[in-house]
Amino acid sequence: MFSCHFKDSTYSILVVDDDPVSRTLLERILKKEGFNVITAENGEEALNLFKNQYIPIILTDWMMPKMNGLELCRAIRQIESSGYVFIIIITAKDSRDDIVKGLEAGADDYVNKPFYPPELLARIKTGIRILELEKSLREANEEIKRLSITDPLTGCYNRGYLMEYLPKEIKRAVRYSHPLSIAMTDIDHFKNVNDTYGHQAGDIVLRYLVELMRSSIRDAIDWVARYGGEEFVIVIPETGLEDAKKVIERLRKRIEATEIDIGNDKKIKITASFGVVCFDPRIKKEMVDIDSIIKEADKFLYEAKNEGRNRVKAGLLA
Ligand SMILES: [Mg+2]
Repeated sequence: MFSCHFKDSTYSILVVDDDPVSRTLLERILKKEGFNVITAENGEEALNLFKNQYIPIILTDWMMPKMNGLELCRAIRQIESSGYVFIIIITAKDSRDDIVKGLEAGADDYVNKPFYPPELLARIKTGIRILELEKSLREANEEIKRLSITDPLTGCYNRGYLMEYLPKEIKRAVRYSHPLSIAMTDIDHFKNVNDTYGHQAGDIVLRYLVELMRSSIRDAIDWVARYGGEEFVIVIPETGLEDAKKVIERLRKRIEATEIDIGNDKKIKITASFGVVCFDPRIKKEMVDIDSIIKEADKFLYEAKNEGRNRVKAGLLA
């Protein structure tokens, strides 16, 4: 009655027992049910196997040399693994106090030796339900987290992420004594795009701009966040003023040269203005906060706008 369910899945089970007879018996029963079975002779061996490979289900004996089942439970619970681990202790110890000890060590369930195979399989099935529930919860949480830091229109980070992670970049710059640059950008006359071609065209332009920004900066080091409507901040860690200016000037030229397809056979061109500021802890000794670095970038952006737009103004954080 269990076979149908189990054979659909490819769950791995780690069987830990110092007695070769029970190990083999367990292995045979579980393999017949379609599980991928891995065996270990004691807790220490099991722990080493587990450290190299996450295994979702562990069936462990209690009394074993080197490391017993309870010690194994405690050790497994200390490890941060990629998913939950369902642990069942299988042992001849069956006093109430022993059961309590086993559960307190971190076991999820308890089966007496000699075990009745259908009962053991039913308990494993319970474990699988918990594992699947935990997995879907974990995935939902990851998705919520991803959404909470993402700008839904453009897919870049949102302002909340900027406010949380830019201070971390500042701290890192101070700790390693490396420069940190940021660029603030604003699309020139963006209101005209919306007024002339509609808000959908405006949205396309914003997405396009983010694509251009992302493909102009280093993967996994630099990042882009939407600061407000058509304002974005590009964070460029470990980069001094001159190099940051080069990156942003190249981006500015790409934006200027790109024709954006806004649908209905229409292509438009936009330009953007930039304010670049570099915080160099080797020059500026005192700690800076996120507000002062953003305010300074904004000041240069304002200058760029004032001097005719479509340009980069830059400077060191004073
Ligand atoms: Mg034993």
